[in-house]
Amino acid sequence: MGEFWSKMSYRQYRRFTYCSYYVDVSEVRGLFNYSLSCCVNSLLQSFSATTELLDILNKWCPSEEIEQSNIPQRLKNALLAMRDKSHPAPHKDFLDSLYRHAIRRGTQQDADEIFHIILNLIQKQISDLGLAQEIRSLYEIKVETQVQCSHCSFIQREPNSLFSLPLAISEKENTLESCINSFFQSQNLVNGDKYHCNQCEQKQPSTHGLKLVSLPLILCVHLKRFRNDRGVTRKLDSKVTFPDYFKSGIFAAGQPENVANDSPRADEHYSLYAVIVHIGSAMFGHYTAYIRPVQEDQTWYYADDCSVRPAKWADVQSTYEGSNAAYLLLYRKKSCNSSG
Ligand SMILES: [Zn+2]
Repeated sequence: MGEFWSKMSYRQYRRFTYCSYYVDVSEVRGLFNYSLSCCVNSLLQSFSATTELLDILNKWCPSEEIEQSNIPQRLKNALLAMRDKSHPAPHKDFLDSLYRHAIRRGTQQDADEIFHIILNLIQKQISDLGLAQEIRSLYEIKVETQVQCSHCSFIQREPNSLFSLPLAISEKENTLESCINSFFQSQNLVNGDKYHCNQCEQKQPSTHGLKLVSLPLILCVHLKRFRNDRGVTRKLDSKVTFPDYFKSGIFAAGQPENVANDSPRADEHYSLYAVIVHIGSAMFGHYTAYIRPVQEDQTWYYADDCSVRPAKWADVQSTYEGSNAAYLLLYRKKSCNSSG
């Protein structure tokens, strides 16, 4: 691959990478921007690198008639077409269906919101319930909300699940680990926030905490860079460093002490394979993606709509802060028998 790039002049390189149907010297296929589709384009790059998703969608062979705008079917077609180098517009039908269903064409979108819309539409529209559950399990982070009454110590538990881990970030420097710790840190509910205790049968001062129950194969982390202050949304450019590999033990620190024994394993390895980047401000923005398409291969690509170029880990790290900042991180759990 490196040899191929070095043999090309810059002009050839631009021509090769600029139009979608020229691309694919690389594993990553450029996608034309139709009516501000950069957000969906970037998500499609991450879905395309999530080969497990297409493997599940490929198992779906519905016998019944499916409507034209069926999202799981369109997504499957788009992901297959992205692998066909001669296809001029692999994602056009998927975009049309998505616009018909849920999102407005030509408007600024939020990548985390669209990520959820797509996964929820798949859940709703795939007729095979077993496959719907497989896709759910692929991304589902299971947590348990625990509210403990400070008066009688009674704990009320409620199971919850998330498709992405929504991490608040501070105005100062953050690390992925510090954001995770804050997410799981318990909070005291006092004064106006007192919680109704089912045992005392009245509102009591309480402690609210989240317990991690299980982590999925594909872990999506949402760095909450958009903050609404009195009706005005602004973007936080502050620094959030994130590793290319981590062990699930980084989740242990923030866990409530009373559940330490039944916490998930701490020795599972996760590796980063996609980063959705938001460029610009809260009002005017653009989405791009860094993708590492092949497991066990360190080659990154940068996909900016039609344009795709090879990238380095240092380029990915340049999205820690500033106006071109990482917004969604996708990590994959490494299987037990793979090394590293
Ligand atoms: Zn109580």
